[in-house]
Amino acid sequence: MTPNTLRKNAIDRLKTEHFDLLVVGGGITGAGVALDATARGLKVALIEKRDYASGTSSKSTKLIHGGLRYLKNMEIGLVREVGKERATVHRLAPHLVRPEKMLLPLIEGGSLGKFTTSMALWVYDFLAQVHGEDKRVMLTKAETLDKEPLLRDDILKGGGYYAEYRTDDARLTMENINTARIRGALPLNYIEAIDFNYTEEGRIASTNCKDKFTGEQFVIKSAHVINAAGPWVDELRQDDNSLNEKRLFWSKGVHIVVARERFPLEQAVYFDVADGRMLFAIPRLRSTYIGTTDTEYQGNPNDIPTHVEDVQYLLDGTNALFPGINLTIEDVESNWAGIRPLIYEEGKSASEMSRKDEIFESKSGLLSIAGGKLTGYRKMAERILDRLSRQRQEHQMEALPQSKTKDIPLNGGPFEDFDAVLSYEKEIEAQLEEASLSPGRADYLVANYGRQAEHIVAQAKQRSEGTDVARLAAAEAAWCIEHEQALFPLDFLNRRSGRLYFDLPSISPVLDEVLQVFAQEYGYTDQEIVDEKQRIENELYKAYTFESREATVS
Ligand code: FAD
Repeated sequence: MTPNTLRKNAIDRLKTEHFDLLVVGGGITGAGVALDATARGLKVALIEKRDYASGTSSKSTKLIHGGLRYLKNMEIGLVREVGKERATVHRLAPHLVRPEKMLLPLIEGGSLGKFTTSMALWVYDFLAQVHGEDKRVMLTKAETLDKEPLLRDDILKGGGYYAEYRTDDARLTMENINTARIRGALPLNYIEAIDFNYTEEGRIASTNCKDKFTGEQFVIKSAHVINAAGPWVDELRQDDNSLNEKRLFWSKGVHIVVARERFPLEQAVYFDVADGRMLFAIPRLRSTYIGTTDTEYQGNPNDIPTHVEDVQYLLDGTNALFPGINLTIEDVESNWAGIRPLIYEEGKSASEMSRKDEIFESKSGLLSIAGGKLTGYRKMAERILDRLSRQRQEHQMEALPQSKTKDIPLNGGPFEDFDAVLSYEKEIEAQLEEASLSPGRADYLVANYGRQAEHIVAQAKQRSEGTDVARLAAAEAAWCIEHEQALFPLDFLNRRSGRLYFDLPSISPVLDEVLQVFAQEYGYTDQEIVDEKQRIENELYKAYTFESREATVS
């Protein structure tokens, strides 16, 4: 079946079937909810108005972490929960959620002294029940420099060294969607929820939707609706007339990416900057990325600008602690800006506001969930479905069984542990070599696609045209169209493959082949090919070109 037919069939099902639950929002929160609900036996549909993870869930720091800095705000419960969740999410998808040791340099005039850091990291490990080799160690100055020679020597006093995990947020979202789909859910992207229709008793009976691809409007009938629209949660609450004094607060966070050769970090570092905040610098494949800012945002959530000032803040903070590298704005190859959908708290600044999640229940039955972290998505899903179960009982419906997701490996697995991932990477490397295909891409392919990597390599082998990198990219794109609803080339270049962020120079050598795959699968006209190419070139330009804040405001 062609992807156009698959999409048409899915829309026909959305129009004609009755669902137990409609999830609005295909970020990590909605994806986690869809999986949990499907595993508890509900018939689930999920709609996403743009591409999966195109909101905040492709714009994070991409860490599965306990949030060390929340200890400063005494958010013990939050740190305990997300700290423990790290190990669970790693177990469910070790190819995608990988161990990453973090170095916290102690510097003169820094926010934390040696004793406080040692205590804080001990508490952090204790709350998250970290054992064995993963427990934090405190390092001398020489040991710290040994781990990361680029650090500024004259103010360095030592370091803390502790365990975290790194992921790709968009892939984590995609694999939750895929796992839910394989278990029976019906997810579809580029479908927007517009507003709701109600029963005489004032409860939601159905949702009016719009296909963003064709403009067609239709209705989805479901017993329940969960609003997991991230920064847009209040928009839907407004449509439901249930927006009250509890509202969202948007905080913008920017990351920049530079070539690894310009910032050859040995390892991930979490470091102090002059205004008392802390930044991450994280090596990843051929790049190093740096983030993040944390400032109030009141602009358009569908198009969040990265300003020169945001970039300069990150560059200044980095250059101050890594003095030899002298990064400038010309070194920035790519960037992303996202908004944290936080719950507003009177009198607090963006970085002081809690990252806790919260559920809002309206009289119409609409359940909305906001706040929270990528790391805690599984527990958030569990909580809102437990709440739905109570709501069902109050309305004489059957209660739901307990959450099962802690034992459901994500699509792309299963892998017994991280060692099994590393041996699989060796197998993929051998397959690439045997097929004379892009050596050195095995870690990228396995981190992104897990065990599906072998199918992509097999497809690439069958392609005869183009360079080896182009054959592999074309096979990858075809896989994402067939299995992951990539509707536009940018869905693939950005959220399926991460190339737009972490390997921008790899795009132009494969662009024509990738466009050809989309053109063939979706039947593009010549003009559509030209238009798509232009859209991609605009995005590439935006990746490394910045306006000043004043220019955007005026
Ligand atoms: P989103 O990802 O925004 O998803 C909501 C989706 O709903 C969107 O895709 C949107 O298009 C869709 N939608 C909206 N309205 C409609 C509608 N009417 N119809 C259909 N669809 C609709 N957390 C961590 O654990 N680790 C980190 O390292 C980390 N770093 C971060 C760094 C930054 C800069 C930011 C901004 C956040 C970070 N977070 C981190 C937090 C984490 O990214 C978010 O908590 C999480 O991604 C929110 O996911 P979500 O699904 O709730 O929202």
